[in-house]
Amino acid sequence: MGEVRRIVAVPPEALAVDTAGHPARGAPERGRVILVSNRLPVTILLRAGAPEIQPSSGGLAVALWPLHRGGDGLWVGWPGELTGGKASERAIISKLRSERLAPVILDSRLVNDFYHGFSNSTLWPLLHYFSHLAVLDRTWWESYRRVNEMFADVIEKLARPDDTIWIHDYHLMLLPGMVRERLPGTRIGFFLHTPFPSAEIFRILPWRREVLHGMLGADLVGFHVYDYLRHFRVAAMRVLGLEGEADRLIMDGRVVRLGAFPVGIEASRYWRTATQDPEALARLESLPGELKGRQLILGVDRMDYTKGIPERLAGYERFLERFPRYHGRVELIQVGVPTRTHVTHYRILRQRVEEIVGRINGRFGTPDWTPVKYIFRPISFGRLCALYRYASIALVTPLRDGMNLVAKEYIACKDHDGDGVLILSEFAGAAAELGEALLVNPFDPEEVAGAIQHALTMPVAERKVRLNSLLVRVWQGDARPWGDTFLGALAACESGADIYPPRLGERERDEMLVAWKKAAGRALVLDYDGTLRAIAPRPDLARPDRPLQQLLRYLGKLPGVEVLVASGRDRETVDRWLGALPIALAAEHGRWLRDPERGWEDMLGGQSPIWLARVTEILEQAAAVTPGSFVEPKSASVAWHYRGADFEQADLRGRELEERLGELWEDPPLEVVHGKKVIEVRVQGVSKASVLLTWLARRPPVGFLLVAGDDQTDEEMFERLPPSAWSMHVGSKSSRARLSLPDPAALRNLLHLLGEVPVEVGP
Ligand code: UDP
Repeated sequence: MGEVRRIVAVPPEALAVDTAGHPARGAPERGRVILVSNRLPVTILLRAGAPEIQPSSGGLAVALWPLHRGGDGLWVGWPGELTGGKASERAIISKLRSERLAPVILDSRLVNDFYHGFSNSTLWPLLHYFSHLAVLDRTWWESYRRVNEMFADVIEKLARPDDTIWIHDYHLMLLPGMVRERLPGTRIGFFLHTPFPSAEIFRILPWRREVLHGMLGADLVGFHVYDYLRHFRVAAMRVLGLEGEADRLIMDGRVVRLGAFPVGIEASRYWRTATQDPEALARLESLPGELKGRQLILGVDRMDYTKGIPERLAGYERFLERFPRYHGRVELIQVGVPTRTHVTHYRILRQRVEEIVGRINGRFGTPDWTPVKYIFRPISFGRLCALYRYASIALVTPLRDGMNLVAKEYIACKDHDGDGVLILSEFAGAAAELGEALLVNPFDPEEVAGAIQHALTMPVAERKVRLNSLLVRVWQGDARPWGDTFLGALAACESGADIYPPRLGERERDEMLVAWKKAAGRALVLDYDGTLRAIAPRPDLARPDRPLQQLLRYLGKLPGVEVLVASGRDRETVDRWLGALPIALAAEHGRWLRDPERGWEDMLGGQSPIWLARVTEILEQAAAVTPGSFVEPKSASVAWHYRGADFEQADLRGRELEERLGELWEDPPLEVVHGKKVIEVRVQGVSKASVLLTWLARRPPVGFLLVAGDDQTDEEMFERLPPSAWSMHVGSKSSRARLSLPDPAALRNLLHLLGEVPVEVGP
């Protein structure tokens, strides 16, 4: 179900069968569900200038419309190109809003670059293993990012804190990450409707890191089948160096769950139409005469190169060559629904298919037998169901397909005591569920030919056994709608609210100001990189700018206020950059402390740890046999970084190292800390937290304490603070801090506010 839009005319009342008036079954207990997809699930018609909205018949729309109708949530998406001028645009937008549909309006250049370009001509081929067709164009990529941002803008405006946001498909792969940045505590799900290819294919994409980061903004990332999940996990581990297990990845200290949720169909709707719809019944009556009693082999696809139509025709041709006794006794009807017709590859495909059809009919046809009937247009829902019900064989042989609904629809139109054989590509997601079909390699015409012959000669008993198992599997989709299953799993994920500190809001800020004003002694403890100063591409570029120096000088001189900047950097750098300011400084994660009046003090009392040389040597040995890893010596600790190494090799080496270091010092004065792709060995008890406590203990008790930091080493400080302290995470990662701010600029603004810093020292 890669393509969201379907062209068949599904009766709208079929979509209206929902849980209207009742809470949607998949809805979480609190909050609304905000569905997000590239296209809104409606078709807009203008009747005498007035907009009318009809539910569209795309796979996603059909699957999720009941959930939308039955709940109180929103659906965010592109409404399609709006015509009819500004007044009509306004009328359409307000009509959409009345249905809780939030439009994201795109101009035609964005539609071209984002939709036809990056989504359909870069990602689509790459995700389906057609890497040679993937166009890599930076302008398209920028539009893709821009459109994802436009979606994020709309969501940010509309979402409430307890809403659940469910984002769909390859058009919006960056969106989960963007929403996470803006609304860190929100519960976010993402579902990919296409395959996720092997990491070896995916990493061709120049923007692979951004795309993976984007998807990992979600709490739950869903795929149709487990293989796609596995490919994604390996890509995230190899490309981003993340750690993970079978069903999860760890991203910025946050767990991202991975799951396989094969989409089903509403089988009863297909069965009802095939057996009761007047159009279907009329067609079923006329088909035997039209086919002159021949057995019908059916192919139904969007005309996409992923569907393998030329290869399928080659298989059928081979069948006719090898088994002449079937000439005149079978007929292949191939429905090709036009799609993306202005893209060159699709035009070429159409020509190729027409040529092959012509060749087969020319080679084998007779005055009263046309071996292949080819229909290049959509057909009505009733006629489609009649074909499914009548066909002896469905030939569903995509070269790659996220799921493939046609396979399931064909089965749904059959009866338990009915007949029909499904020939299914092993490269369709549906093959993971429909194992009783005849599974074939669609690239091999011999195998396809053999499967057709096998299907035509299969004993009745075997046909029924296979069909009955398939029917059970397909009807499961009726019992528990797919949307409910996904939302249930999303609701069970650890909520973002549990691990993300809320942003500092106006109320907390006012409370903080009151506490600051009435406190006798006040202390500000601030990390440097990523907290006071944005992270720079190279560490030496992150010098304090003038406004920062002025701000710190001003705060340092305020009566009753003390400032400590606690950095992990080496002492020389901290001294060179900040030494002239009237504030306290700490360097090397707590080894060094400087009070303005005392000068630098070594928390280790001048002892260089005796084990340091030996441990450094052990880590150097590990680095020598692990390409891409390196050792960083510091004055009281040493770290082995393996971010750049092959992750499997390095993980193994890391475990060996931990064991070895543990054996060497069973009662150690040292501490082995296994962080994110780094093993650090340091003196026990020397940390940012310990230096903070030492510094505080040396002065009269403070009535107000603000501690701000952005990464793991600052978490150690947050853990040791009294409950009355104001701990502040700067950024959008999980943290134990009480509150958070988005970036260093926001922290600087807060400091200005607290210190009532005059405007000339402004940010
Ligand atoms: N279909 C259609 N019009 C037609 C014939 C078929 O819309 O004339 C529908 C078909 O019923 C199926 C969908 O198109 O639901 C194709 O879905 P599938 O998952 O097989 O492939 P996708 O097009 O999503 O890649």
